[in-house]
Amino acid sequence: MRGPIQEPWRLFDASEDEWRGWGWQMRHRIREASDLAAVMEPTAEEAAAIDALGDRFHFVITPYYASLMDPADPHCPLRRQVLPSLAELSDPLGLADPLDEVAHSPVKNVVRVYPDRVAFCVANECALTCRYCLRKRMVGEQEWAMKRRELEEGLSWIRRTPGIRDVLLTGGDPLVLSDERLDWLLGELRTIEHVEIVRLGTRLPVTLPFRITDDLCELLERHHPIWLNTHFNHPRELTSDAAAACDRLTRAGIPVGNQSVLLAGINDDAATMKQLCEGLVRMRVRPYYCYQAQLLEGTAHFRVPIEDGLDLFEALRGRTSGYAIPLYVLDTPYGKVPLQRSALVERDGDHVVVRAWDGRLWRELNPR
Ligand SMILES: *Cc1c(COP(=O)(O)O)cnc(C)c1O
Repeated sequence: MRGPIQEPWRLFDASEDEWRGWGWQMRHRIREASDLAAVMEPTAEEAAAIDALGDRFHFVITPYYASLMDPADPHCPLRRQVLPSLAELSDPLGLADPLDEVAHSPVKNVVRVYPDRVAFCVANECALTCRYCLRKRMVGEQEWAMKRRELEEGLSWIRRTPGIRDVLLTGGDPLVLSDERLDWLLGELRTIEHVEIVRLGTRLPVTLPFRITDDLCELLERHHPIWLNTHFNHPRELTSDAAAACDRLTRAGIPVGNQSVLLAGINDDAATMKQLCEGLVRMRVRPYYCYQAQLLEGTAHFRVPIEDGLDLFEALRGRTSGYAIPLYVLDTPYGKVPLQRSALVERDGDHVVVRAWDGRLWRELNPR
């Protein structure tokens, strides 16, 4: 496996300044097989998949992320997250909306499964498309005037629903919105007294770290308390540019967490997961959740049996900082379910017996 290449902007005939501009990156995204030529030659399988999936789920990759892919390795864990695969065409069990989000939307774009918090899909687009995207059904571009009308309806629902104290902005990716639009949206949310915290769910620190500008951080800081969860899946995504983006966020007082997805052949072995999570903690990013891959259309080749996931996270316990261990969860239409084998072995009279990380049993006096 190779490390990040030197001066990747040269591959795209760009200057370093252009490369580090998020507008340039958005405008020069790779959307066609011919655009890929700058960084790599797709395999015959990848080329066929690009053709076959063009209409169903088009691929989009930022030049930055593309520069991290290994052109010599079709099993490259970054490449597999973003390049179409023919395996997507053979998944008889996958569903379009496995979490039944449409049925859980009191108004369009607002998903409510808990009494006190909602996911608010404020943008339909991302910087790049992940092949296992949960919301691939709704990813695409949308005219701002129409989106703004929809957002106003969402805001109005939140305003008249006093139980909502936590609003999670997601999408798509909320950070593809311009600073001006984001400022408007956060400002509107801040006029709602019962909204205590706002969280951003964004993959841009991973896929387009140059989006995390000082201006953006100042803007976010004006709307505190803001929390942010990002989405690193593999240690090779932990570049110096990504670390700098996370550093700017944490310096602005924004706690940064990570939500990864357990993906077969990408991060489903304990050594890779440990390297990812320890790297995140070094960047002051707290692994929050690791998701079991959903029963989502076209993603059978990414799914890992839950028992293997349990073994993987058990293997981390005791062998790295508790901070570096995310909660392994299965998301369901009823909410997130933590996946853990019980450490409680048995009740024995006035004691309970528990199993420690290394397998030893401990008896603890425990009141009835
Ligand atoms: C994940 C999620 C949340 C947030 O859940 P936390 O466990 O508080 O992080 C809220 N609403 C929906 C619909 C979600 O999917």
